[in-house]
Amino acid sequence: MSEFHKGLVWMRRDLRCSDNATLAQALAACGEVYVVFVFDTTILTGLPRDDRRVAFIHDSVSELAQTLANAGGALILRHGDPVEEIPVLAKSLGVQAVFAGRDYEPVAVARDRSVARSLDDSDIAFEAVKDQVIFDTNEILTAQSEPYSVFTPYSRAWLKQVRPVDLAPRGRKSDLQRLAKPPQGADKVPSLASLGFDVAESRRMAIPAGESGARQLLDDFLPRMAHYHERRDYPGVRGPSYLSVHLRFGTISIRTLAREAHAAMLLGGDAGNGAKTWLGELIWREFYFMILHHHPEVVGNAFKPAYDAIEWASGQAAEANFQAWCDGRTGYPLVDAAMRQINQTGYMHNRLRMVTASFLVKDLGIDWRRGEAYFARQLNDFDLAANNGGWQWAASTGCDAQPYFRIFNPVTQSEKFDPQGRFIRKYVPELADLPDRALHAPWRADAQTLTDANVRLGQDYPQPLVAHDVARKETLARYAVVKTPAVSAKADGEADGA
Ligand code: FAD
Repeated sequence: MSEFHKGLVWMRRDLRCSDNATLAQALAACGEVYVVFVFDTTILTGLPRDDRRVAFIHDSVSELAQTLANAGGALILRHGDPVEEIPVLAKSLGVQAVFAGRDYEPVAVARDRSVARSLDDSDIAFEAVKDQVIFDTNEILTAQSEPYSVFTPYSRAWLKQVRPVDLAPRGRKSDLQRLAKPPQGADKVPSLASLGFDVAESRRMAIPAGESGARQLLDDFLPRMAHYHERRDYPGVRGPSYLSVHLRFGTISIRTLAREAHAAMLLGGDAGNGAKTWLGELIWREFYFMILHHHPEVVGNAFKPAYDAIEWASGQAAEANFQAWCDGRTGYPLVDAAMRQINQTGYMHNRLRMVTASFLVKDLGIDWRRGEAYFARQLNDFDLAANNGGWQWAASTGCDAQPYFRIFNPVTQSEKFDPQGRFIRKYVPELADLPDRALHAPWRADAQTLTDANVRLGQDYPQPLVAHDVARKETLARYAVVKTPAVSAKADGEADGA
């Protein structure tokens, strides 16, 4: 006997049928299960018409509709505010319960609370199901039963606690026969244009969408996972998985990824090291979800409140610097290449996210929240928890951030992580003919070298906006308000980071 006669699964960040904990729970608890996706106007109205993430969602939803139809069900589609749409739909379908993947972002938490309240008025249950992480909320706690605020012990506890059952896929194919079609039949997926978007082919993401796209990327990455720890820091090399957008929209299950990594890690050896490092990144992702859950105040505020006393650069010069950073015109080739990568593709390599974030905050003295907001608009994989965590890490305001006196040197980072300038030459073609030794800091090159490479500094490519060693001193002074007597400014450090 099922717990509920009919249930409704509301998909949001879990656009897949396989290993979907929410769908699995609904199928196990209900005699018949409907599935809905809402094109959420409260989110969509704030986005530009050519937002490539919406095209990705649209493609993924189209594939999902097909997969559900093939399994005998149908995807119900709505375009509106889910706080209104979901209760109306639930009532009209006559379901006794609505199931949704648990979300940790404050706005989503508030939305779900409103929906749950509204459903409750009609005696309909709302079940939030853990799906997008292996462990959430209070599942990993310190010996004192407190949430962790430092990554390494959290990660150690995570690895100690994880069991095969935590990583096992959720649901059985045979349960899909409980998928139901709504009385009015399947909805047609609305066109992007009818949703108010127009995303040119040239602006779309280079990676394939949907569950099938995620699977392709995973199949491509699995043989490379063994080398992840050696290659992941070099933006000119195919080191990482590029799966972040799929994790963002749930077109692949975190259990699938963590299971692959965990199994490969246990094999040990060099391949095991690659897998262990990659699993560590997946754990960073969970760490930041956990931080956001316990500390929603990190949205808009420093995790360490004392850091909100820092006075950031302001005025016309700061505005011009911010704009130059956004446009990839700082005069530091690695920073500019990275900013052009995010502007052109919506992706930025992890090492470069750290370098560009550090440059904005610690070379230009600009408030990390402005960079965070810029990344939020540009990144295909924008995720509030990871983006906020990454920015607070770089700005030293975060829970387990690099110390404020560790300041990336953008030239050293460039020499170390893009030694032959493969990445820089791709995104800053005006410098392509410079020899490697001049590429990382063209203002240091002699006149003949620049002439031979057809580079006129200040015309073809900007002079550096700031001198790093001067900016570094200013940053140390700016951060002096948070200096505790025990901490003294050390030499310019190269942080390893997450
Ligand atoms: P891989 O190296 O293949 O890693 C696998 C997965 O692990 C990623 O897809 C991601 O889900 C997770 N992951 C990896 N590194 C981190 C990390 N440091 N923190 C949290 N999760 C991580 N990641 C986002 O998903 N969304 C963001 O909005 C985001 N903003 C960031 C902002 C800054 C300033 C920094 C420093 C990092 C940010 N990251 C963000 C983390 C990281 O840069 C990206 O997850 C990664 O570059 C995505 O590429 P990938 O899928 O090829 O990663």
